[in-house]
Amino acid sequence: MEEVTKERFVYADNAATTPVAPEVAEAMTPYFTAVWGNPSSMYSKGREARKALDSARERASKVLGCAPNELYFTSGGTEADNWALKGGARFMREKQGRTHVITSTIEHPAVLRSCEALEREGFRVSRVNVCKNGILDMDELRRTLDGDTAIVAVMYANNEIGTIQPIEEISKLAHEAGALMFTDAVQAVGSIPVDVNALGVDMLSLSGHKLGAPKGIGALYMRRGLKINKYIDGGGQERGMRSGTENLPYIAGLAEALELAASRMDDMERIRRMRDRLADYILKNIPHTIYNGDPSRRLPGNLNISFEYIEGESLLLLLDMAGICISTGSACSSNSLEPSHVLLALGLPAEKAHGSMRVSLSHGNTDEDVDYIIEKLPGIVSRLRSMSPIYPGDDK
Ligand SMILES: *Cc1c(COP(=O)(O)O)cnc(C)c1O
Repeated sequence: MEEVTKERFVYADNAATTPVAPEVAEAMTPYFTAVWGNPSSMYSKGREARKALDSARERASKVLGCAPNELYFTSGGTEADNWALKGGARFMREKQGRTHVITSTIEHPAVLRSCEALEREGFRVSRVNVCKNGILDMDELRRTLDGDTAIVAVMYANNEIGTIQPIEEISKLAHEAGALMFTDAVQAVGSIPVDVNALGVDMLSLSGHKLGAPKGIGALYMRRGLKINKYIDGGGQERGMRSGTENLPYIAGLAEALELAASRMDDMERIRRMRDRLADYILKNIPHTIYNGDPSRRLPGNLNISFEYIEGESLLLLLDMAGICISTGSACSSNSLEPSHVLLALGLPAEKAHGSMRVSLSHGNTDEDVDYIIEKLPGIVSRLRSMSPIYPGDDK
């Protein structure tokens, strides 16, 4: 049997995390070495930090199309998701007695587990299905919305299959029912243009490390006038809503990364072409493959394919031996051997969901990376299938 050799390193798992962009690392450095004051201190060393904080908030909010005082920095996407969903649901229960939460079946665990926590608090949670292509079933959403609905939480772009949801339309329906609208835009921000007002959402979460900033920084957009329950009690930072001395270096890094991503939106066309070339190659040349998710309404860098008669975990390990990083399911669900809840929601049987591969390309990837995946993947798939007692052969 052919040995797996490594001739190159190809990182194709940008939906799990991205490296910090050199421009971002550089923009952060002064806030470790020179501008290290506490933004709440009144002497000049503090005021200098406050000025930098204000400027970062202004730059970040401009990219998202919101006002600076509508943006709250958090420790990441997970915190922003927890805050928006739990805070929003509890707020609507207190103000209007509403106890119904609506989400989708394909959300990130940060949203799914927050919904379960709300269920334990007495909320009723409806999980609206997606169609075969991974787009929300809008008729089911219409039937599910009612006068008791406190909040609707539907992600903008999915982390496993990259599908982009019609958030504008969902916001409209949620508001017609008098509910709040929250979207987890962690995968979308940086990959497609995001304008909070065009989307019509009340809240939107994002995370730095998915767009070239470090891990451990994110933000929640909260529409002006909406004052859901504050999230962390303490010294009153983030306009009293999320206490804790501001992480200025990381906040400056996030602002830089957001601007950088916005300035590189044109590169997404190149990334889309690389993704499509890889997809075409696989579908034409490797038999028994399934293309998961909508072919056009998806993030430009995302590809999700199921190889029948293969375990995704084995595929991941052999590709790693070849120097290629991809994932099977999402990084969180790959800690367990459960098939991905997203692929199951598409109606894929468990054994086909098990053999899935997610490739997520970004600015750092080149045509040579795609060539290398094309060079290595078919042999590895054949090798794994040749060990499967149930593989019917390439022509079947
Ligand atoms: C990565 C991710 C999160 C979590 O963000 P962290 O900053 O890692 O906590 C939430 N939602 C989606 C869709 C993600 O891809």
